[in-house]
Amino acid sequence: MPELPEVEITTRRLDAALHGVAVETALAPGMNTMKTFDPPLEALEGRAIASVNRIGKMPVLHLAAADGDDGLSLLIHLMSAGRLQLFEKRASPKDRASRLLIRLDSGDELRLREFGTKQRAWAKLLAPGEVAGDEMVATLGPEAWPAPTVERLAEIVDEPRHLHPLLRDQRAIAGIGRSWVDEILWQARLSPFKKGAELDSDEVERLHAGLGVLGEAIDHYEEVVGDRIPDKMPMPLRVHRREGEPCPRCGATIEAVFFSEHQMNYCPAEQTGGRVLKDRRLSRLLK
Ligand SMILES: [Zn+2]
Repeated sequence: MPELPEVEITTRRLDAALHGVAVETALAPGMNTMKTFDPPLEALEGRAIASVNRIGKMPVLHLAAADGDDGLSLLIHLMSAGRLQLFEKRASPKDRASRLLIRLDSGDELRLREFGTKQRAWAKLLAPGEVAGDEMVATLGPEAWPAPTVERLAEIVDEPRHLHPLLRDQRAIAGIGRSWVDEILWQARLSPFKKGAELDSDEVERLHAGLGVLGEAIDHYEEVVGDRIPDKMPMPLRVHRREGEPCPRCGATIEAVFFSEHQMNYCPAEQTGGRVLKDRRLSRLLK
């Protein structure tokens, strides 16, 4: 599940590797991957890659100008199971994970792959000036890293919604997903079920400090991730998916609440006043 730290290290590595490299061919084996049709994907061919960066959890490839235009930008959404990786060899036509294949004159191939059976990852080929206005970009809240100011964060969370979904809402704050939200709330010693509008100023400051785990994760990746992005990122998670294990800070048992597509982990001793929250999966079965 690539979130801000994973996409940040991915785009840093790609930016270093691809700067100035030209596109030979671009193909979209994923039937529904391209969400734009004009210009066509072939418009990438022959262009040099100028830079790679990210907006929230979305990688963006910027390509040099050609034919009198201002260049092109390829905005990519990895959704929950996409990966953007560079390979030395070309993908096998049988590789069912391939969604987008960008063959480079360096001999490498940049692939958008997606694990699992669902095809959800997508890309849009836009004029550089259109990126900021794209609906997925224009609706984003401020970036979670570098963190907004404490004052700005206080405004962002001043909503009658539980912190867990609120912090994962890209329109409120951009870059946080199901893994890092658990880490941020644990770091801040805040309950996932506390409402944003109910935070006092001390709690907002703790939440602000908790966002620091994103920068720490990026620093960790800078140390352990090499030139090529692995399939499985070595995520330095301390509570997410660690139910049953001792809290690394206080030793209490980490608990979980399961939802249909995700799970929430927390330390009951430090985040919920000792209360173990209802397991929604279990309570549904018992109904
Ligand atoms: Zn604890």
